[in-house]
Amino acid sequence: MKINLKLTNAPKAKPTDESKLGFGAVFSDHMLIRKWTSEGGWQDAEIVPYADFVLSPAAAVFHYGAEIFEGLKAYRTAAGKIQLFRPIENVRRMNNSAERLCMPQMPEEEMLECIKKIVEVEKDWVPHSEGTSLYIRPFLIGTDPKLGVHTVHECTFCIICSPSGSYYAEGLAPVKIMIEDEDVRAVRGGTGYAKCGGNYAASYRAGEKAAKKGYSQVLWLDGVERKYIEEVGAMNVMFKIDGVVVTPELLGSVLPGITRKSCIELLKAKGFKVEERRISVDELFEAVKSGRLEEAWGTGTAAVVSPIGELIFKGEEYKINNFEIGKTTQMLYDTLTSIQWGKAADEHNWIVKID
Ligand SMILES: *Cc1c(COP(=O)(O)O)cnc(C)c1O
Repeated sequence: MKINLKLTNAPKAKPTDESKLGFGAVFSDHMLIRKWTSEGGWQDAEIVPYADFVLSPAAAVFHYGAEIFEGLKAYRTAAGKIQLFRPIENVRRMNNSAERLCMPQMPEEEMLECIKKIVEVEKDWVPHSEGTSLYIRPFLIGTDPKLGVHTVHECTFCIICSPSGSYYAEGLAPVKIMIEDEDVRAVRGGTGYAKCGGNYAASYRAGEKAAKKGYSQVLWLDGVERKYIEEVGAMNVMFKIDGVVVTPELLGSVLPGITRKSCIELLKAKGFKVEERRISVDELFEAVKSGRLEEAWGTGTAAVVSPIGELIFKGEEYKINNFEIGKTTQMLYDTLTSIQWGKAADEHNWIVKID
């Protein structure tokens, strides 16, 4: 694989007020493109000026949801160096998602090279303020210009980069979560473990319902019995019950989060007992009522860790830890962010340096 550079001669002005970046609204000067066909395989990659796509209106991505994506961040250290957090995990998950949707996989080292190269080219777009980062969005779309329903024969792999603000501009804050009892996100055998766009479109309705009630996210139950807890919006979920951290196990319907995996590894290294198993809403509310549920939090690249202060289920509200941030939640947040921004030693070998 070669990565050809066709750089812009009209670079955009970088955002001056980094407190107003928000998430995913501003994009850097370039994007990486790599095309694939079933006959020719992967072509060389190129880094070109960020621009609109020209696609056939019949392209498979528009009709049959032939789309998968990833999300990771580039962090700027105090010394001004740029680094990534466990990017190989994103590469592997992208290939697993591709396998599920019969889309082409890319050799791991080539996809990693693509990610590193676009970040290197865009390194001045990594913001400087505390808690900010360059969000990296690799995605793969089916572009076959035919309406027949068949596996894709033409794809475009693309990486775009978005300087993003601190998720917690006002500090780590507990959120209110609605447990959804009608819609489901995924079932075993479906696409729950794949990071594909279709999973998100199907979750909008419950998200709207939660927002109308004043809740910020949806907690999904399993699609078969509507009884077991799965995950929260775009985050995995963990509960601390009687000192033990419990998180739903990965049975095919839950997205295998890299933050989830990192939290489990950190917790175990610090001597916590961690159980990956099915946990029902009944068990959870029983733990709330008997005062044994100590903390609950979501995990994901965007927020890192998000404390859950309240749950609502079938009209009943349950406060968790007095709507305060728990000690374990705070510890995980501090530990992970220190590694990501290079303030703590990288004992687990998770960091990939760009420059
Ligand atoms: C991306 C994602 C997560 C979190 O994964 P991370 O790798 O930790 O960012 C959790 N759930 C869903 C549905 C996701 O799409």
